[in-house]
Amino acid sequence: MSVKENLKDINEQIEAHIDKTHASTLPHVIAVTKYVTIERAKEAYDAGIRHFGENRLEGFLEKKKALPNDVTMHFIGSLQSRKVKEVINDIDYLHALDRKSLAKEISKRATHTIKCFVQVNVSGESSKHGISVEELIPFVKELENYQNIEVVGLMTMAPLTEDETQLKSIFKQLRTKRDEVQALNLPYAPCTELSMGMSNDYPIAVEEGATYIRIGTRLVGKEE
Ligand SMILES: *Cc1c(COP(=O)(O)O)cnc(C)c1O
Repeated sequence: MSVKENLKDINEQIEAHIDKTHASTLPHVIAVTKYVTIERAKEAYDAGIRHFGENRLEGFLEKKKALPNDVTMHFIGSLQSRKVKEVINDIDYLHALDRKSLAKEISKRATHTIKCFVQVNVSGESSKHGISVEELIPFVKELENYQNIEVVGLMTMAPLTEDETQLKSIFKQLRTKRDEVQALNLPYAPCTELSMGMSNDYPIAVEEGATYIRIGTRLVGKEE
């Protein structure tokens, strides 16, 4: 399938699932290009995609270099502290801020304010990165001590399941937490955004108010 056809399907799903009580605008679609070639990423660009996501340093820098410079580049994977200096100033949005050591390294290396999503491990699975729901508020408050970090929102990865009730509950919890952080009125943490929903669960994330959905397989495919 062409990216264009896939995008049309996804946009139809978004229209069908959006709940105006939780979202005032349509979510941004981030094309996750980690599985595919530069050519396929360019096809996504030609189909109108302007948000791109990669989870590894090499792929991120390679795609950024190859794509036109009006794209917004999202780093969606966990970032090792020692690699921060190699990539942080090329990142428009970091989706995986999950620890103090990373915040510290970012504030040391970034030459401009980095828009960050705090990654929350809502499901509590040990295989998932992210700060626990309980630790979130104290963590956000501590970020006051670091320069160049703006908490634009929260991000989560849901478990691989078809249990819609469970998925809905996870996305809803993230939204509730987003609202709590926003209500703190911290100048460095406007926290208006929700990065949630991937190929298998994005319609449910959209129902719960996602503002950024991260789609790989269903949009650009998976080459192995
Ligand atoms: C790979 C990845 C995605 C996209 O996954 P698909 O299931 O292929 O849509 C989204 N978010 C993160 C953090 C990822 O690593």
